[in-house]
Amino acid sequence: MKFNELNLNPDVIEAISHMGFEKATPVQEMAIPKILDGSDLIACAQTGTGKTAAFILPTLDQISREHQKETSVLVIVPTRELAVQIDQQIQGFAYFTPVSSLAVYGGGDGQDWVQQKKALSMGADIIVATPGKLISHLANGYVKFDKLKHLILDEADRMLDMGFNDDIMKIISYLPVKRQSLLFSATMPPEIRHLAKNILNNPFEINIGLSKPAEGVLQAAYLVYDTQKIKLVKSLINNKDSLKSILIFSSTRKKVFDISIALRNKEYEVAAISSDLEQDKREDVLRSFRSKNTKVLVATDVLSRGIDIKEIDLVINFDVPGDAEDYVHRVGRTARADATGMALTLINEDDMYKFHKIEQLIETEIRKLPLPNELGEGPNWDPKFRPQKRGGFQKRGNSKNSGRKPDFNKNKNKGRKPFNKGNKKKD
Ligand code: AMP
Repeated sequence: MKFNELNLNPDVIEAISHMGFEKATPVQEMAIPKILDGSDLIACAQTGTGKTAAFILPTLDQISREHQKETSVLVIVPTRELAVQIDQQIQGFAYFTPVSSLAVYGGGDGQDWVQQKKALSMGADIIVATPGKLISHLANGYVKFDKLKHLILDEADRMLDMGFNDDIMKIISYLPVKRQSLLFSATMPPEIRHLAKNILNNPFEINIGLSKPAEGVLQAAYLVYDTQKIKLVKSLINNKDSLKSILIFSSTRKKVFDISIALRNKEYEVAAISSDLEQDKREDVLRSFRSKNTKVLVATDVLSRGIDIKEIDLVINFDVPGDAEDYVHRVGRTARADATGMALTLINEDDMYKFHKIEQLIETEIRKLPLPNELGEGPNWDPKFRPQKRGGFQKRGNSKNSGRKPDFNKNKNKGRKPFNKGNKKKD
């Protein structure tokens, strides 16, 4: 569906075309008309589906038609990075409208606080906030939410995982009861249903399914310490004549190189491929793997998307991929075109939580196999364990503008202050 069939404001349509979007994605096609109708909404949609524009475009459309001097839209998100990213998208979509927006999150300096306070007391049209920081501002009494019309919770499952349930309910206690509420979540566990029941009113439901590994793939996993991984891989592939093509994925170029060295032996060919290799060399490596001269290929995710290599007997995830999409792409290299194949994932203690999230997203509990006896004991399955060093998801970027999108915004918005009402209307 084209965006101009969605009955959006011409100023918004113009910004969409500057962003280079031609057609609405499925979640946009389903959500935009319902949001324009004023319905509450609960949407199960992951990052990458175009969910952000699905809630920004119709709310922006509505508030730019009936522009008021107080905050109209509140978007609550789990992390500072997401707040900045969404605010940047809003600035792009709102470029030809008088709508102002601001991201409110912690970790900044005193100047950030002053700017956030100013925008909140003057009633910036759209506020994108992390729960903790917003509560600190709310406690000071200058936040103007009396005329708020739209509440959006993005990545709601992640917010609940991070323990924000009470904070969300507290923020909602400051909002008008009569409002439109939209809830977006990558998964729909019972806690999300419970939250939705508390805050949504007769919501319309959307479910954008994630692609899942093909039926023919046998998926299993091993719980291992890092020190056991190479030994385990060797025991899985040595002396297995039936395995002609084995693809091993790892997350970094350095690891790919180290694994390929560790697996080298006299019996069969092992190669490594990553973006470090020149294009010509990459093609040589792939050719040798396709023709089965190379039995084991160790690769970064570069290879997991797009490249069609048939008849891979075994995929090994040497570590757990970053997200469910990568998992599906990696695993999808085996069992292509109705063939059967096997995908094994090695999970260390730090990756258990991440793997559990992937299982939830693909709606499959993957069997954890016992380690071969000679390897000794591996770690116990503890999907709730989250490694400390990842800082509970609150990784801080250095620059407020890192990853700023879209490009056209960067050039045309030169000199624009982050909170500056009404100065960008096109003449
Ligand atoms: P999201 O799921 O909101 O994180 O969006 C994923 C990416 O898709 C972002 O980079 C958006 O800019 C982009 N995107 C969203 N909607 C569209 C569309 N209709 N056409 C092309 N790209 C889009």
